[in-house]
Amino acid sequence: MTETIIHEVGAEIDARCAKCKAITKHIVLSLKKDEKAKTVRCEPCGYEHAYRQPRVKKSTKPAVPKLTAAEKKQAKINAEFDLMMEGVSTDNSISYNMTTSFKLDDIVDHPVFGTGKVEELITPDKALIHFRDGRKTLVCVISTEFEE
Ligand SMILES: [Zn+2]
Repeated sequence: MTETIIHEVGAEIDARCAKCKAITKHIVLSLKKDEKAKTVRCEPCGYEHAYRQPRVKKSTKPAVPKLTAAEKKQAKINAEFDLMMEGVSTDNSISYNMTTSFKLDDIVDHPVFGTGKVEELITPDKALIHFRDGRKTLVCVISTEFEE
Protein backbone atom coordinates (compact mmCIF):
# COMPACT_ATOMS: atom_id res chain seq x y z
CA MET A 1 0.00 0.00 0.00
CA THR A 2 2.58 2.57 -1.02
CA GLU A 3 1.28 6.02 -1.52
CA THR A 4 3.76 7.06 -4.14
CA ILE A 5 1.65 8.79 -6.70
CA ILE A 6 3.25 9.51 -10.00
CA HIS A 7 1.26 11.83 -12.14
CA GLU A 8 1.55 12.42 -15.82
CA VAL A 9 0.46 15.37 -17.86
CA GLY A 10 -2.88 14.55 -19.37
CA ALA A 11 -3.63 11.88 -16.81
CA GLU A 12 -6.91 11.79 -15.00
CA ILE A 13 -6.72 12.17 -11.25
CA ASP A 14 -9.05 12.89 -8.41
CA ALA A 15 -8.64 16.30 -6.86
CA ARG A 16 -10.62 18.74 -4.90
CA CYS A 17 -12.29 21.43 -7.00
CA ALA A 18 -13.03 24.67 -5.18
CA LYS A 19 -15.81 25.50 -7.59
CA CYS A 20 -17.52 22.13 -7.55
CA LYS A 21 -16.77 21.91 -3.81
CA ALA A 22 -16.15 18.22 -4.29
CA ILE A 23 -13.58 15.68 -5.30
CA THR A 24 -13.88 15.49 -9.05
CA LYS A 25 -11.97 14.09 -11.99
CA HIS A 26 -9.19 16.42 -13.03
CA ILE A 27 -6.78 16.41 -15.92
CA VAL A 28 -3.16 17.03 -15.00
CA LEU A 29 -1.88 20.14 -16.84
CA SER A 30 1.61 20.43 -15.44
CA LEU A 31 3.89 18.66 -13.01
CA LYS A 32 6.14 19.67 -10.19
CA LYS A 33 9.71 18.38 -9.91
CA ASP A 34 8.62 15.54 -7.69
CA GLU A 35 6.25 14.37 -10.42
CA LYS A 36 3.21 15.36 -8.48
CA ALA A 37 0.61 17.32 -10.35
CA LYS A 38 1.13 21.06 -10.15
CA THR A 39 -1.87 22.38 -11.98
CA VAL A 40 -5.00 20.55 -12.91
CA ARG A 41 -8.26 21.19 -14.69
CA CYS A 42 -11.54 20.09 -13.28
CA GLU A 43 -13.35 18.00 -15.83
CA PRO A 44 -16.90 18.80 -14.82
CA CYS A 45 -16.44 22.59 -14.68
CA GLY A 46 -13.20 23.30 -16.51
CA TYR A 47 -11.69 25.26 -13.61
CA GLU A 48 -7.90 25.28 -13.72
CA HIS A 49 -6.13 25.48 -10.41
CA ALA A 50 -3.21 24.27 -8.37
CA TYR A 51 -3.46 20.65 -7.43
CA ARG A 52 -4.18 19.81 -3.87
CA GLN A 53 -4.28 16.29 -2.68
CA PRO A 54 -7.79 15.24 -1.93
CA ARG A 55 -8.64 14.94 1.70
CA VAL A 56 -9.48 11.28 1.28
CA LYS A 57 -5.76 10.69 1.79
CA LYS A 58 -6.55 10.75 5.46
CA SER A 59 -7.98 7.28 5.13
CA THR A 60 -4.42 5.94 4.98
CA LYS A 61 -4.17 6.65 8.68
CA PRO A 62 -5.92 4.27 11.02
CA ALA A 63 -9.53 5.02 10.49
CA VAL A 64 -10.89 7.17 13.24
CA PRO A 65 -14.58 7.26 12.60
CA LYS A 66 -16.08 10.64 13.10
CA LEU A 67 -18.36 10.43 16.06
CA THR A 68 -21.75 11.99 16.16
CA ALA A 69 -22.62 14.10 19.15
CA ALA A 70 -24.66 11.24 20.53
CA GLU A 71 -21.79 8.81 20.09
CA LYS A 72 -19.38 11.22 21.75
CA LYS A 73 -21.74 11.52 24.65
CA GLN A 74 -22.00 7.74 24.82
CA ALA A 75 -18.22 7.36 24.68
CA LYS A 76 -17.93 9.75 27.57
CA ILE A 77 -20.53 7.81 29.52
CA ASN A 78 -18.69 4.57 28.76
CA ALA A 79 -15.38 6.03 29.89
CA GLU A 80 -16.98 7.29 33.05
CA PHE A 81 -18.43 3.86 33.64
CA ASP A 82 -15.10 2.12 33.07
CA LEU A 83 -13.45 4.49 35.50
CA MET A 84 -16.12 3.84 38.09
CA MET A 85 -15.83 0.08 37.67
CA GLU A 86 -12.06 0.08 37.80
CA GLY A 87 -10.97 -2.34 40.46
CA VAL A 88 -14.56 -3.13 41.36
CA SER A 89 -15.22 -6.81 41.69
CA THR A 90 -18.36 -8.05 39.98
CA ASP A 91 -18.09 -11.43 41.69
CA ASN A 92 -20.75 -10.54 44.20
CA SER A 93 -23.04 -8.71 41.81
CA ILE A 94 -26.71 -8.95 42.59
CA SER A 95 -29.07 -10.14 39.88
CA TYR A 96 -31.65 -7.48 39.33
CA ASN A 97 -35.33 -7.97 39.64
CA MET A 98 -38.02 -5.71 40.99
CA THR A 99 -37.90 -7.24 44.41
CA THR A 100 -34.16 -7.06 44.76
CA SER A 101 -33.00 -5.00 47.67
CA PHE A 102 -30.07 -2.71 47.13
CA LYS A 103 -27.63 -0.74 49.13
CA LEU A 104 -25.54 2.14 47.93
CA ASP A 105 -22.55 0.97 45.87
CA ASP A 106 -24.01 -2.48 45.30
CA ILE A 107 -23.01 -4.01 42.01
CA VAL A 108 -26.08 -5.02 40.05
CA ASP A 109 -26.38 -7.47 37.22
CA HIS A 110 -29.28 -6.44 35.01
CA PRO A 111 -30.62 -8.77 32.29
CA VAL A 112 -30.80 -5.92 29.75
CA PHE A 113 -28.46 -3.18 30.89
CA GLY A 114 -25.68 -5.43 32.16
CA THR A 115 -23.50 -4.57 35.08
CA GLY A 116 -24.21 -1.43 37.02
CA LYS A 117 -23.52 0.21 40.31
CA VAL A 118 -26.06 1.67 42.69
CA GLU A 119 -25.24 5.36 42.82
CA GLU A 120 -28.14 6.81 44.63
CA LEU A 121 -31.12 5.59 46.59
CA ILE A 122 -33.86 7.91 45.43
CA THR A 123 -36.97 6.74 47.20
CA PRO A 124 -37.65 3.57 49.16
CA ASP A 125 -38.45 1.81 45.91
CA LYS A 126 -36.22 3.50 43.37
CA ALA A 127 -32.51 3.43 42.89
CA LEU A 128 -30.32 5.29 40.46
CA ILE A 129 -28.07 2.73 38.91
CA HIS A 130 -25.13 3.58 36.74
CA PHE A 131 -24.89 1.17 33.84
CA ARG A 132 -22.52 1.23 30.91
CA ASP A 133 -25.31 2.83 28.85
CA GLY A 134 -25.86 5.55 31.38
CA ARG A 135 -27.75 6.09 34.57
CA LYS A 136 -31.14 4.54 34.97
CA THR A 137 -33.69 4.76 37.67
CA LEU A 138 -34.96 1.32 38.48
CA VAL A 139 -37.65 0.08 40.74
CA CYS A 140 -36.34 -2.04 43.53
CA VAL A 141 -36.55 -2.65 47.19
CA ILE A 142 -34.03 -0.58 48.97
CA SER A 143 -32.72 -2.24 52.02
CA THR A 144 -31.19 -0.96 55.22
CA GLU A 145 -29.55 2.28 54.20
CA PHE A 146 -32.57 4.27 53.15
CA GLU A 147 -33.65 6.48 55.99
CA GLU A 148 -35.64 9.68 55.70
ZN1 LIG B 1 -14.98 21.86 -10.82
